[in-house]
Amino acid sequence: MKSLELVNVTKKYGKTAALDDFSYSFENRIYAILGPNGSGKTTLLNLITDNLLPTSGRIEYDGKEIHEMKASYRAMIGFAPQQQSLYEGLSLNRFMYYMASLKGLGKKEADIQVEMLLDRVHLSEVRNKKLGGVSGGMKQRALLAQALIGDPKILVLDEPTAGVDPGERIAIRNLISEVSDDKTIIIATHIVSDIELIADKVIILKKGRIAMDGAPAELCAGMKGRVREVRLAKGKDSLSGIKGKISSITPCGNEMTVRIIDNDNGNGTEVFPSLEELFLDVFEQKM
Ligand code: ADP
Ligand code: MG
Repeated sequence: MKSLELVNVTKKYGKTAALDDFSYSFENRIYAILGPNGSGKTTLLNLITDNLLPTSGRIEYDGKEIHEMKASYRAMIGFAPQQQSLYEGLSLNRFMYYMASLKGLGKKEADIQVEMLLDRVHLSEVRNKKLGGVSGGMKQRALLAQALIGDPKILVLDEPTAGVDPGERIAIRNLISEVSDDKTIIIATHIVSDIELIADKVIILKKGRIAMDGAPAELCAGMKGRVREVRLAKGKDSLSGIKGKISSITPCGNEMTVRIIDNDNGNGTEVFPSLEELFLDVFEQKM
């Protein structure tokens, strides 16, 4: 199987490394790059898409240096970048045709793909609206649609749910998993719930380095025994005796269910840790 491989990749801005000695091999799966702001996610994606050159290290696809592959590599990549304030004056339709032309598609092929992709992301009905005038969710779906032009083997998405309401988040998540067949998908996000159901592998980035990586269940299993759940009467008074770190509070009638990491009074029942809890634990000290 062809893979995208990063070997000891470092990207420095001045003296500080935004990405520090990153090595990883990506195959046909959904990968989540998870980390708080400033952890190096965008830098990593810009390197993978050949929009940035590493300060040191190599990035190879199927054994060939991506920067040397030039157009043949770019033809395999679909990229939805983080900022979404571009092309506000274009209609969704014009935007799609514009992106299709940048990818070198002829008119006939563009007609077919724009039609199919707008339909796929459920934007056909608003295709004549200007990008500047649609919701954050629609904009993100448009960004996803343009990234899918040409059926790329490698799909790279930077914060695909930024500025999107919860319902749309679910729609975008479902779309990503629908298109994932036979592709390497790399999603950068700081929102755990965006990826915990769809990612095959999670790479947790902390200050430009891999803090942890693996399948979500495997990562969570590493925290086994440390999370407990208690039912308490509603109200903040009942929280005052808790020793550990509260990871979630779910109200339920007059009571609430509270999940606690390292609850050293030993109350409650042990539960399987969530990815959110792992994330909280990894970034506990200082984001
Ligand atoms: P993330 O996407 O996880 O928020 P970034 O890759 O954008 O992280 O940034 C990682 C680090 O690199 C941050 O400390 C950021 O300030 C720094 N950085 C990013 N881009 C630049 C740049 N063009 N010039 C200088 N520093 C940068
Ligand atoms: Mg970023």
